[in-house]
Amino acid sequence: MDDQLHPETRAIRAGRADNDTALAPILWATTTFVTPTVEEGRRMATGVGAARFYSRYGNPTVNGFEEAIAQLEGAETARAFASGMGAISAVILGLCSTGDHIVAQRQLYAGTQLLLQTACPRFGIDVTFVDGTEPGAFAAAVIPGRTQLVFAETPANPRLDLVDLDELGAIAGPLTVVDSTFATPLAQRPLDHGVDLVVHSATKAIAGHNDATLGVVAGAAELVNWLYSFAVLQGANASPFDAMNGIRGLRTLGVRLERQSHNAGVLARFLEDHPLVEEVRWPGLTSHPQFALAQRQLALPGGLLTFELAGDLEAGRTFVESVRLAQLATSLGGPETLVTHPASTTHVNLTAEELEANGIRPGTVRVSAGLEHSADLVADVAQALDAVAAAR
Ligand SMILES: *Cc1c(COP(=O)(O)O)cnc(C)c1O
Repeated sequence: MDDQLHPETRAIRAGRADNDTALAPILWATTTFVTPTVEEGRRMATGVGAARFYSRYGNPTVNGFEEAIAQLEGAETARAFASGMGAISAVILGLCSTGDHIVAQRQLYAGTQLLLQTACPRFGIDVTFVDGTEPGAFAAAVIPGRTQLVFAETPANPRLDLVDLDELGAIAGPLTVVDSTFATPLAQRPLDHGVDLVVHSATKAIAGHNDATLGVVAGAAELVNWLYSFAVLQGANASPFDAMNGIRGLRTLGVRLERQSHNAGVLARFLEDHPLVEEVRWPGLTSHPQFALAQRQLALPGGLLTFELAGDLEAGRTFVESVRLAQLATSLGGPETLVTHPASTTHVNLTAEELEANGIRPGTVRVSAGLEHSADLVADVAQALDAVAAAR
């Protein structure tokens, strides 16, 4: 398709190269395919990305989703996985071996952090955690000849900290990887900054309707194809149904991201003025410590915001249990506004020091703004804050 078109426009028709005359994506609900000749079977069994051999290797619906993501990220190729963690574990365990070293950001999705902290040491892979917001921190932690991977997430869980993608992309030696889930391919393209691989939990805004568990890795063909042989054995391949819902989601990603960014902005400004709120984090606020970087690197600030309620664990709990329109549920990027209280849910496995290092306080609340009318969301948040005040 025409590369001059805007990404929102390309997303409308992406992923349907193998679609015959059907307009909507076709669901290839089959595990296996009739092999025309022995020679063709041998080629598919030993090559890369076979779409019509056996669905753990590849599947036309899944390949359609992969092509769409590759196109939107400006990548040569992509590989879909059964979840974001499927993609992240393939990158880490598929590219690193015993004796290797990884530099990772301290501010990370809790699953990624646990994988690095628990699985990597079992395989003799050392990990150094750094503050991703500190200029030069990643490069300074690289051990020449030993560091295989530098892993970053931006915007990052849960306080929307940013990593400078130009700085990350300029690191020579190790492979650089960015978890770009919060931004989606429409708000930032890490590969354009020189980063080697981009990963997404497509479970979130890409599929966008809380009905598909899906992950994806995109980058240079040489690297993604190297990962492919591990991925086929790892078996965390995407289901065709979820991949179809991934392509379905991409068609509306542009308008959803705009609406969610708008709603998050309205909520962020309302919260900033509220006496019970100590701090609001949203990349679109001038008060964000990395606002200038956000302006430079994000096309849209996104639908995620985090705020600090004054008070203890109880204040955070009361808030998330008092919202009525918004719902207490983990995950993000869907049509419904969701709230989470990291200290008691997503980050509950972390020690007090780790919580502190991640910037998670007892009153930290994360909001994933949905597609509702912003005035209804403000009214809901206001009444939940009233409930917090009444409980004091
Ligand atoms: C949800 C999430 C993941 C994990 O994705 P799953 O699809 O749940 O496996 C990884 N990174 C980020 C930033 C996430 O939000």
